[in-house]
Amino acid sequence: MVFENGTAALRDIDITVRPGEFVSLVGPSGCGKSTLLRLAAGFEQASGGSVEVGTGHLGYVFQEATLLSWRTVLQNVELPAELAGVARGERRVAAREAIERVGLAGFEKHKPAQLSGGMRMRASIARALTLRPEVFLFDEPFGALDEITRQRLNEEVGSLFRRDAFAGVFVTHSVPEAVFMSTRVVVLTGRPGRVAADIPVSLDFPRE
Ligand code: ADP
Ligand code: ADP
Repeated sequence: MVFENGTAALRDIDITVRPGEFVSLVGPSGCGKSTLLRLAAGFEQASGGSVEVGTGHLGYVFQEATLLSWRTVLQNVELPAELAGVARGERRVAAREAIERVGLAGFEKHKPAQLSGGMRMRASIARALTLRPEVFLFDEPFGALDEITRQRLNEEVGSLFRRDAFAGVFVTHSVPEAVFMSTRVVVLTGRPGRVAADIPVSLDFPRE
């Protein structure tokens, strides 16, 4: 991937993520992790090569919670369904279910500013869950959270994944987090970034 200004961000990348695989992407700052995720999401157009992403919905969780401050948790979570033209009743049900799954039941009417950082991140995850994505992309979602909240969210995302077995890619700076969370760890290095290692992780979690 070469940006219009000439910056080369990725080279010779060949990665396939299958349904039921949760791949962590680690590597030094600037090696192209976010770029790779943004290419997968279609936020960037590749300067070369091809990017293919399933046929269903895609969930994307950004580094910051990016909730709309004037909307309640419920209104934020149902936004993707609203934009996709899902009928009001149906999207309410989907949003409430997603809110429940991330442990925010009871907070539907709260505004983002009334929630803790961890709760805002959970609302963001719920928002990405509403359309039941077949592909889930996380761009270093828990970097700004305290260690305890982060560990709790690691466990919760891990359990969402074990339940739904979507194809997931999780960008992180933390190698322990990568190993704990995923079924595979891909290490990118260099500028432009290349795949330095692609390692299966077999912690043998019990499937839920
Ligand atoms: P990481 O997520 O691994 O820290 P990034 O994907 O953010 O790395 O960035 C990879 C490289 O691409 C960096 O050198 C960065 O400065 C550059 N880059 C990212 N986005 C753009 C852009 N829109 N235009 C030009 N260069 C960019
Ligand atoms: P998190 O680990 O998600 O950041 P906290 O540790 O901040 O959550 O909060 C722990 C619990 O305290 C939450 O699950 C919630 O039940 C309650 N809580 C946190 N913030 C609020 C709030 N603004 N109003 C009511 N209850 C809250």
